[in-house]
Amino acid sequence: MFIETHAHLNDKAFDADRDAVLDKCRAAGVDKLVEIACAAGEWGAGEKLAAARQGAVFCAFGLHPENIEDAGPRQLAELPAWLEKKCCVALGEIGLDYWWKPEKKTEQLRLLAELLPLSVKFSKPVVFHTRNGRDLKTGNAYFELAQELKDWTFNNKKKARGVLHCFSGGWEDAKAALDLGLLLGINGTFTYKNNGPLREIVKKAGLENIVLETDCPYLSVQSMRGKRNDPSYIPEIARAAAEYLNIKVEALAVATTANAVELFFRNCKNLP
Ligand SMILES: [Zn+2]
Repeated sequence: MFIETHAHLNDKAFDADRDAVLDKCRAAGVDKLVEIACAAGEWGAGEKLAAARQGAVFCAFGLHPENIEDAGPRQLAELPAWLEKKCCVALGEIGLDYWWKPEKKTEQLRLLAELLPLSVKFSKPVVFHTRNGRDLKTGNAYFELAQELKDWTFNNKKKARGVLHCFSGGWEDAKAALDLGLLLGINGTFTYKNNGPLREIVKKAGLENIVLETDCPYLSVQSMRGKRNDPSYIPEIARAAAEYLNIKVEALAVATTANAVELFFRNCKNLP
């Protein structure tokens, strides 16, 4: 059994065949998935999908840093009620995006600081989006996120729990995250021919620190590049990772599923 920890199945790319895609996921052994509803306009659709597929689809609710313009006082006031929903297993994705929105860095850091306390208040792990710019002129999003978390956990004497989804940083960035207790989310980019450095980082991080995801409809695996991605490709990512780590895919499935259960479903009362 696999758990897909990061899907955007409410994207319009799935409007024509969402149900069929969910059936395909189950057939592929992907039994549970975390649907990421990261804008106020997506929260309702996320809940609906989870209600239609109880026990298989769960939600993360958050405010994505890329949509910082849509994260105003009203959305911030509404978010807590969504974190109390039965289907909710995480806060996210939230974080820092210096690729698309470097000019909004101050606003992103402010939003992150406002959202982090909700993780503890509602006992939810955090799905973090972290992306650096083309160069590091804006700063290193990974280091700055780690610093923010360090300050925050220190001031509040609470441990942050979460995952750096779609990890794309260097080893130092990974190390800073692992030291804080975060996991790394590994997706189709692991299978890309030129992504040797990422594969090495995953090896160094170890099986105990990774979870699988697709970030669909984006980031298709190597064999499907350019086409729509969906959670049924999780086993292909797992096979690539198992081959690289020189272990059986079953062992990788067991370990990454256990990591995902521990992170997302430990406090979940809605499991079948
Ligand atoms: Zn995402």
